[in-house]
Amino acid sequence: MLDKILIRNEEVERLVNNDDYSSAAKVFLSSQKTVWAKLADGYKSLESIKVKRFEFDGFTIKVQFNPGRIVSSSARVDQKSIKERKCFLCLENLPPEQRGILYKKNYLILVNPFPIFNEHFTLPSINHELQRIKGSFDSLLSFSKDLSKFYTVFYNGPKCGASAPDHLHFQSGEKYFMPMDREFEKIKNKYGENLFKNDRINISAIDDGLRRFISMESLHKESLIKYFNNFYDFLEKKFHSEDEPMMNILSFYEEKNGWRILIFNREKHRSSHYFEEGEKNILISAASVDMGGVLITPLEKDFDKISSENIKEIFKEIILNKEKFEIVKEGIRAIPGS
Ligand SMILES: [Zn+2]
Repeated sequence: MLDKILIRNEEVERLVNNDDYSSAAKVFLSSQKTVWAKLADGYKSLESIKVKRFEFDGFTIKVQFNPGRIVSSSARVDQKSIKERKCFLCLENLPPEQRGILYKKNYLILVNPFPIFNEHFTLPSINHELQRIKGSFDSLLSFSKDLSKFYTVFYNGPKCGASAPDHLHFQSGEKYFMPMDREFEKIKNKYGENLFKNDRINISAIDDGLRRFISMESLHKESLIKYFNNFYDFLEKKFHSEDEPMMNILSFYEEKNGWRILIFNREKHRSSHYFEEGEKNILISAASVDMGGVLITPLEKDFDKISSENIKEIFKEIILNKEKFEIVKEGIRAIPGS
């Protein structure tokens, strides 16, 4: 099965052999567009998509009207619905035109057929295994380094944005599309509080009035894995979460500074606006990209009416509350070794 899926393209193979997965992915996307008309249309439609910007104190939130995302935004992710559908990330259920690049023997690089980014990839495990960050965090770091020339990589937890909570996967899209990629330093300087720093890792807590999140910056993979695992164990013990503590993670890598991991712990997946009827309804199903500063509205009525007040209300409900964030900060300060 795997053999049938893998892309046969000399240029892609040459780039992969040189460990240049970023360029390989770019060439691969172009080649998929030439043989997969629906995919090409999806990317073409992004060119005429409507976007508006809201300026907050020190950062930007973009709102993207993206009708193609309706399937994902309204996806039923309860256990029963998941059990009853065919897993769309399993090899045998991929669309016939879909090909993939094999990554480190157990992942694929696939083109996302419902793009938010101009270059949008899904990075699934080749096996049907649960969406869990514990045990796969090192893969997130590898992907993010190997794709870093052009792309940011992200993870959506099974209960806060992953539309395949039963199949392990990450995603990636072009760098600087999410305002956070460019604005992070500014936001950290204005709203950040350093929790721990040594010569290997720098951990901060940031509350910009909309988002509360933790940043972990390091050139050392082993240090990041160690801290993340300790952090994860703390969250799990403290909040007794079902499946896994709700979180979205953005991973940005640069040769000079190494990894920048942003962890957005969540209170809820969908705010009350999602469930309202009539005028008050706003269909936003926030995940990593929204945390990064691009809110996706698949319905035009929401795009037209959404206000900065609505954006504040939505984040207030879905992001970890102030009290719990204080507990998280204390937890990080107490991590052994720090
Ligand atoms: Zn699957």
